Amino acid sequence: MPDSTGVATASAMHPRLLRRRAKVWAGCFAAPLAVTGFLLALCDELSFATRLGLLITGLSGSLLVGRLLGGRLLSSLATAFDLLASLREGDYGLRGHVRWRRDPLQVLVADINALSDELRQGRRKRTEASRFLGKTLVALNSAVFVIDDAGALRLINPAARRLLRAERTAVVGRDAAELGLGPVLAAADDTIVNHQFPAGKGRWAVRRASWYSDGRGHTLVMLHDLSAALSEEERRAWQRLIRVLSHELNNSLTPIGSLAGSLAVLLEKESAEMARQPLLDGLDAIGRRAAALARFLSGYGRLARLPPQQRTRFRLDELLHRVVRLEHRLGIDIAGSRPVTIEGDEDQLGQVFVNLLRNAVEATLARVAEGRVWVDWQVDVDDVLVTIDDEGVGLPASDCLFVPFFTTKPEGSGIGLSLSRLIIEAHGGTVELRSRHGAPGAQALIRLPYGMAS
Ligand code: ADP
Repeated sequence: MPDSTGVATASAMHPRLLRRRAKVWAGCFAAPLAVTGFLLALCDELSFATRLGLLITGLSGSLLVGRLLGGRLLSSLATAFDLLASLREGDYGLRGHVRWRRDPLQVLVADINALSDELRQGRRKRTEASRFLGKTLVALNSAVFVIDDAGALRLINPAARRLLRAERTAVVGRDAAELGLGPVLAAADDTIVNHQFPAGKGRWAVRRASWYSDGRGHTLVMLHDLSAALSEEERRAWQRLIRVLSHELNNSLTPIGSLAGSLAVLLEKESAEMARQPLLDGLDAIGRRAAALARFLSGYGRLARLPPQQRTRFRLDELLHRVVRLEHRLGIDIAGSRPVTIEGDEDQLGQVFVNLLRNAVEATLARVAEGRVWVDWQVDVDDVLVTIDDEGVGLPASDCLFVPFFTTKPEGSGIGLSLSRLIIEAHGGTVELRSRHGAPGAQALIRLPYGMAS
């Protein structure tokens, strides 16, 4: 097989070819002597001096050929040795010059050249990989520790160094347990541990990997700080809540304050008789705003205090029939007929269907034309799927339908959907709302895991 220079490599050279080449060389070496011997045997009338001359010529010819071939052999061998010596010293840049492409030793030199290329490429790839790994370790926010089977710290990244509040050289090579890393390094893969590092306390998600190198076992432990992620999520939840609370409180308190001011001015300017009706209207408006605020706060209370589940086995189809009978504003069709028994909190799931049916009915009644609402359910391998379809006004263009307190209704609380999602997700299921394809209205899809059904 030719290498990049077009020279056949020794590994690809057939052994028979090598043997043939050795025979040719031996033949070249022996030829002058053989010719001399042949001439001496044929011509017996030659004088002694001539015979001696012929013998010396034959001998010198063989010696000359031997010297030429030996020189070539030695020069190729010397090149091969030099190349191997430089490879051993890690210098992969040296190349041997290949002059005689069919000379087996020159092919050996070409082979060593190819080996140098491969080693050089391998080293380049390793260097690139370790540079990439180094940069990743530096950029990683998670702390990485590598320990060997004797428990000594072999490698740490900057995040780990910051946790230990120590320089790399001060900790690498030291016993990990001595550095107080025992509990986190002993933690199982994919677990969460609480640990106090010199830089601070936190909850850490642990990932582990083990491998062998230089005949020694090594373990990599990566710690991801969960406290930071959790507190960030908590902060965002508080921000959302405060935004909603202040919006609702302002919506009620601003008109109440301005109404109270106007009523006070009215009382000062007008007689009691004249002020009576505007006063009554103003107090009525204040009362309605206060009631709206109370509704909002009770809705918030419901959302914040979802009671623990009381799980029982019950007939989902019977629950759906009962919930449908509660709705008097519109006749609701029931398309499903199959009995389904599931396990869960019947009251909470009933509340979900009440909310979704109420929304479907209100959306349908909000349309001038007549519309239907119907309920269906199916059981497949993994899930029980309940659908509530309506021919109502359709979904508003918003991503916030399930965000607490989002409502498009004047008297709405915006609690129904978020509470429903909370309950369904606590049962391991999902709930979604989508527009109906090619028809007016919306569809609510409730998926409960099959594990609960039988
Ligand atoms: P509320 O009913 O008090 O407004 P929800 O959380 O139950 O609160 O619903 C939030 C909003 O989602 C509703 O105000 C309405 O705009 C929209 N919505 C919910 N269900 C439907 C539906 N079937 N069709 C159209 N809009 C819907």
